[in-house]
Amino acid sequence: VLEALRQQRIISRTALAVQTHTSRAMVSLVVDEFLRDGLVRAVGPGDSTGGRPPQLIEFVPDAALAPGAALTNSQWNLVLINLDAHVVRRIESPIVGSSPAEAIASLSQGYLRLTADLPPSRLLPALGLGTPGLVDIRTGTIVTAADMGWNDVDMAAMTRKALGLQRVIVANRSRLGALAELWQGAGRGVDSLIYVWVGTGIAAGIVIKGRLFVGANSSAGELGHVTVQPDGPLCPCGNRGCLQQLASGPAIANRARQRLREVPTSLIGSLVGGAPERITAEVVFAAERMGDELAGELIAEAGAHIGLAVANLINLFNPQMVILGGPVGAADESLLTAVQAEVRRRAMAHPLAAAQITRSVLGPDASAIGAGVLVLQRTLGLLRPAERGADGAPAEGADG
Ligand SMILES: [Zn+2]
Repeated sequence: VLEALRQQRIISRTALAVQTHTSRAMVSLVVDEFLRDGLVRAVGPGDSTGGRPPQLIEFVPDAALAPGAALTNSQWNLVLINLDAHVVRRIESPIVGSSPAEAIASLSQGYLRLTADLPPSRLLPALGLGTPGLVDIRTGTIVTAADMGWNDVDMAAMTRKALGLQRVIVANRSRLGALAELWQGAGRGVDSLIYVWVGTGIAAGIVIKGRLFVGANSSAGELGHVTVQPDGPLCPCGNRGCLQQLASGPAIANRARQRLREVPTSLIGSLVGGAPERITAEVVFAAERMGDELAGELIAEAGAHIGLAVANLINLFNPQMVILGGPVGAADESLLTAVQAEVRRRAMAHPLAAAQITRSVLGPDASAIGAGVLVLQRTLGLLRPAERGADGAPAEGADG
């Protein structure tokens, strides 16, 4: 009933009963409870269709808020989202040190600041977390996070204990980015999409029919470890030529250092004052925007590797949309252009015709928003984005 209210925004009890295939009496009981909780409000009579005009009720998206947090670049991004996944508050909490205990101390401080002046009744009774690494979404355990040097960290249990929370849900941050794009980002109105996070590593989130696909043991989407160069550089996972060894932020920076020796006149060198150890992917993008030829080649090269992997995803999953996100993936149009060019060369024409390849519009909060969406899904059973925004207009591409 709540899902139907959220989709329809303003509706009568009778229409709601018809929509949800539920008895009028049951709908009235549920709606009375929602009225007490503030999830809906009475807005007066609607247009009559002959008899007595129906009393309308309206969905109140700000009635309850879901907390979500995600760990990137030594800090937590924390958000409170409303029932439409709109961000109503955001803060950051830096992490001092790199141990799980230090990360949870920072998370606790951030969470208390985020929720300080909220009545507990307005807060949904769970916290969603996005972290790097392979995360078992059923247990909330980080199996391994190479970025952090963590293995077998029981993130959910440690956070429950630190914050006295009943329920903590943990997932890989890239999977959550996919949910966020679906609910509130580039993927609104889309049914199946693949979100490709490019930063210190590369990972994807796969959404099929509006639901996150996690696979047999939560590792679906490990795009960074698909082989794109059979005899390429060794990866910490044990394989050779993994995508993230060729196209992640650190991989782009490494390649720039190598090539700078052959092309010492490149702007990349002058942007770091002749200190190659200071080269990052951001520096390469900056040089490319200034027209530097080597930077352009490096981005085209990384984009071709990512494009090869994305073409395989398009052939396998036939998604409506592929979204490049993360600090490197969404940084610059030039990378997107290079990915699109390679995909056009390699994907089959039929699935390619249905797939839009675009950039994330949510920025650094994407994973935290997705963590909040997980809370909406698990505590309220809200399974898909509202098709109408707060203005009542149907989302782009929604078929009703
Ligand atoms: Zn690997």
